[in-house]
Amino acid sequence: MRVLFVAAEAAPFVKTGGLADVAAALPAALAALGHEVRLIMPRYKVLRTRSEPMTGPQAATFLPVGERAEEMRLYTGALGEVPVHFLDIPAAFERDAIYGERDDIRRFVLFARGVLAAMQHLREVTGWSPDVVHGHDWHAALVANYLRTYYAYTFGHIASVFTIHNLAYQGQGHPDLLGVAGLTEGGLLENGMGPGIAGSFNCMARGIAFADVISTVSPRYAREILSMEYGERLDGLLRHRQDRVAGILNGIDTALYNPATDPHLEATYDAEQMAGKAACKASLQARCGLPVDASRPLLGVVSRLAEQKGFVLLEAVLPWLLRETDAQLVLLGSGDAHLERVFREAAAQHGDRIAVRTGFDAALAQQIYAGSDAFLMPSRFEPCGLGQMIALRYGSVPIVRATGGLADTVREGFDGNGFVFHPFDARHFQDAIARALTSYRDAEGWALLRARGMRADHSWQQSARRYVELYDWARALRPR
Ligand code: ADP
Repeated sequence: MRVLFVAAEAAPFVKTGGLADVAAALPAALAALGHEVRLIMPRYKVLRTRSEPMTGPQAATFLPVGERAEEMRLYTGALGEVPVHFLDIPAAFERDAIYGERDDIRRFVLFARGVLAAMQHLREVTGWSPDVVHGHDWHAALVANYLRTYYAYTFGHIASVFTIHNLAYQGQGHPDLLGVAGLTEGGLLENGMGPGIAGSFNCMARGIAFADVISTVSPRYAREILSMEYGERLDGLLRHRQDRVAGILNGIDTALYNPATDPHLEATYDAEQMAGKAACKASLQARCGLPVDASRPLLGVVSRLAEQKGFVLLEAVLPWLLRETDAQLVLLGSGDAHLERVFREAAAQHGDRIAVRTGFDAALAQQIYAGSDAFLMPSRFEPCGLGQMIALRYGSVPIVRATGGLADTVREGFDGNGFVFHPFDARHFQDAIARALTSYRDAEGWALLRARGMRADHSWQQSARRYVELYDWARALRPR
């Protein structure tokens, strides 16, 4: 099968979040199954200044946006075996920021139009054309829309799959953007829109309305987003299309996240040889200025401190944790200014119990996964979550709220691999930590629990096969 991935970021070219990992790892896993995958993404300014190896331009054209036409050039590079096309659109990407600009929607309207122009070029000049176009998140959502409107005659046979990595970011703007995009209001969008969406231009909604199949990054999140609680005002539209919504768990890069080979660790280890983990714990304690004590349970956190991640619950249970337990806490995270301050102050007051680092630090992150006994993810919502899967692999037992991908990957009880709480409140979070700390006292039981997590397979292989089924499904829905 020939598949064209459309994404705003892919590691290692540009990465701001988990999407970049998926956009890099999944094409590679599909290629390993024998499929012909290409990736198309913006040529951001950072890619020019870092002078990533790429050839081109192979083509140059103008993209219509509203009254204007903007220049676009097509470049090509590679990610391992996977060819990567880069769209050089100066009006959209000749600037330092990746996202967060005032004209973000117009920028990604241009990107989507550019993708279609590139597809035309590739077909006419090189004869390459995909069977499936797979768009990711709102930045790529309009491609599905153009495929069924402007380009219905040219590309009507091509199936389209749209994957939601986080429904909270939708690319929503003023209805005037309809004219900029050269689109008209679609039937489904009038009937199915939830309150608050009508009367605006919403890229995510258009992806959902026009793709043949919609997927998200865990089975549980796929069900949750059909409800008002998690639907971010698109639940009406999603319910309208629910017979085309599926959930497939992300994998993790098991070569990169491997305690047996990780160069950032004090000592390496695996499920059969755990001595290295004790060395990692001692080294983490020493590095963070905590008492080096093998018997004290060490809780780890590596996360964005965003509302979604639920760390207000950790703020609430901190006094209890300090008063009633002997646990140590190492937290690496940045984001919410209030939470950063709260955790920093707690660390300043209780330096023998709590260590806090802000900023982004990939090496320290891996040292925390390896050095901690348990890993906290009290998320309010979590489309998939990578942290808990990395923690499992490093033998740090996850303590999570049962939501989205956390509910699909962490189980408590007989044959469990972690600790799970349900209602989003501090008491239930505290109870889950308390159960974990009790269980930690039983060294033999803890070792079994930890080993179960470490032995589970979280590689991309399984998920890539499920995506192939999804592509077959989308193709079967296309009129021949
Ligand atoms: P999200 O994509 O919503 O932030 P995920 O759990 O899916 O959450 O992925 C987060 C990834 O980013 C994990 O690999 C985690 O280790 C990493 N990460 C988060 N915060 C930091 C940080 N401050 N420093 C280093 N890595 C981080």
